[in-house]
Amino acid sequence: MGFLAALDRGPSARAALEAMSGAPAQVIARAPGRVNLIGEHTDYNGGAVLPVALPHATWAVAAVRTDGRVRVRSLQRRHDEVAVELPSVAACGPGLSPTWAGYAVGVLWTLARAGVPVPGLDLVVDSTVPLGAGLSSSAALECAVGAAVLGVLGRPVAGADADLLVDAAVAAEQQVVGAPTGGMDQAVAVHGRAGHAVHLDFATGAAAARRLVALPLHERGLALLVTDTRVAHALADGGPDAEPVGYAARRADCEEAARLLGVPSLREAVPDAVEALPDGRPRRRARHVVSETARVAAFVAALERDDRRELGRLLAGSHASLRDDMEVSCPELDLAVTAATGAGALGARMTGGGFGGSTVALVDEQSLGQVAAAVDEAFEREGLAAPQHLVVEASDGASWSPV
Ligand code: ADP
Ligand code: MG
Repeated sequence: MGFLAALDRGPSARAALEAMSGAPAQVIARAPGRVNLIGEHTDYNGGAVLPVALPHATWAVAAVRTDGRVRVRSLQRRHDEVAVELPSVAACGPGLSPTWAGYAVGVLWTLARAGVPVPGLDLVVDSTVPLGAGLSSSAALECAVGAAVLGVLGRPVAGADADLLVDAAVAAEQQVVGAPTGGMDQAVAVHGRAGHAVHLDFATGAAAARRLVALPLHERGLALLVTDTRVAHALADGGPDAEPVGYAARRADCEEAARLLGVPSLREAVPDAVEALPDGRPRRRARHVVSETARVAAFVAALERDDRRELGRLLAGSHASLRDDMEVSCPELDLAVTAATGAGALGARMTGGGFGGSTVALVDEQSLGQVAAAVDEAFEREGLAAPQHLVVEASDGASWSPV
């Protein structure tokens, strides 16, 4: 059993960039992954979420090219020596790059479209965020690359440029990669703060209202244990006429429930009206969203008064609701949650959209090793591949520094 180290990958990315380009690196940018503490499947229903920026991050190192060309490489994709080589930034855009490089060149394109004078660039990225584990390596990649662009232009990731970066990263993922993303991941990758969670309220629709919530874990002898189960259940849909599955199906169910209840979004739904719906999927989905929205508010209040039993109870309630009413858990997530709780975690739940990915547990600092070991043993007993654990201290959002 071991914990995934949150190493500084700036030096390795820099060395690779200088080897690739033969020129000195100019900026090193960093953007973190994230774990959502509570508030799942609430963002697209006008509710709130409470993510934390991880100490695990993606680094992007950049050097400007005078010929306007774009070259991108990732140390997580070593077999793709140079993933894309494009004649210009203008050639970045939808459809060009179906591979991972779409996340990177997508941001160059969306920043340029927003009026940022993006120059030709050599870029190398390296990361400690597990890929595809529900810890938002995608937003970390987008925001690290975007921060590197701001860096070569000498523009700090702050104020209007921070918001511009969030929007460009969201647009790249939605329009270039074609992945449904609600905006939580990019907001926390940019606006995360050490020692804080980021409360994002999607009540007003597009731009979430943002507020930092103090998360004094170490001071209180607490720690967050994130466990990547290493399962990713395929959610591919069966073509244009097939029933939507997975995430898209849950969104459709929620829209149907809001229609039945006569409310613009499930955030407006009241518990009595939800329970009066006929038994079925819309009622269960609405019950999850309404109860989860209440749990986010209760979690923030319990953090303020240091009520750790309540925090644990809310995490457990969120998991049960996601498992039974939203039906987005899976045996591996349930196992990690049960094993962590059984070994003394104050509370644990699946985190992220579901069907695989990671869990988050609130534990006493001294019992980190014992809880992680219990999860490993449970996985081994079931014949499952060993999960990967991360100890999470809330960290800062995207930034860059000159080389
Ligand atoms: P998550 O964001 O939860 O990690 P996603 O499916 O949204 O999962 O994004 C994962 C994808 O993002 C990877 O499959 C890969 O295409 C891309 N990606 C993220 N980080 C990197 C990286 N460091 N190098 C190359 N590709 C990356
Ligand atoms: Mg992602």
